[in-house]
Amino acid sequence: MALPANAQEKKYPEPEPMKPGMSEYWTPQRKVVTPGNIQTQSAPSDAIVLFDGTDLSKWEMEDGTAAAWTLKDGVMTVNKQKGSIRTKEKFGSFQLHLEWSNPKDIEGSSQARGNSGVYLQGMYEIQILDSYNNETYINGMVGSIYKQTPPLVNPMRKPGEWNVYDIIYTAPVFKEDGDYLYRPRVTVLLNGVVVQCNTEILGTTEYIGFPKTIKHGDGPILLQSHGDPSQPISFRNIWIRKL
Ligand code: MG
Repeated sequence: MALPANAQEKKYPEPEPMKPGMSEYWTPQRKVVTPGNIQTQSAPSDAIVLFDGTDLSKWEMEDGTAAAWTLKDGVMTVNKQKGSIRTKEKFGSFQLHLEWSNPKDIEGSSQARGNSGVYLQGMYEIQILDSYNNETYINGMVGSIYKQTPPLVNPMRKPGEWNVYDIIYTAPVFKEDGDYLYRPRVTVLLNGVVVQCNTEILGTTEYIGFPKTIKHGDGPILLQSHGDPSQPISFRNIWIRKL
């Protein structure tokens, strides 16, 4: 049977609209692990230092203007009025180290408590959240690939202490038609404990709906300014090694 001449214009049904709760699951809540005495790591000699406490010169706002987060005492803090920041430089596969802390007196619950995130290549969010005695949907807790894969365990430190992320990321390879040939993969250690082990990233980390496949090249590291009303979180000691 011949294809209709207008096959390109054929209309297919649109998917049913989704709500946020349709991609959130709460069980089984993750086992709490008390981390060891991993505190900080100075950058190795071949690393690109993205933030060492002196300035924000490696960062910019999403519109390309100067990074407008607060810098004080060697620590940078989210400015929720200004928005997310990203590195000026773009990266493919990498090893990333960063440290972050929630305010000691942080308030709020579930997703509205210390919510931030680190976006790999500007596309894929590894969640940052105060998950210390704070339950939420497990694929949105600290160490999750947001709305995809929950962490293996919960080694979160309490508010006021510094948490350490070490993220080893393999960039995706795309086919010409824009689909993945190889999806991105990520290993994440939180406070020295593996929470993602060579996990396949399924696509973009959407708040509503399924992961999307969007063809891209190298991208920035983006740190999220989240709109939740809790006090802003802080970062220090950020470095990256290209792989
Ligand atoms: Mg977030």
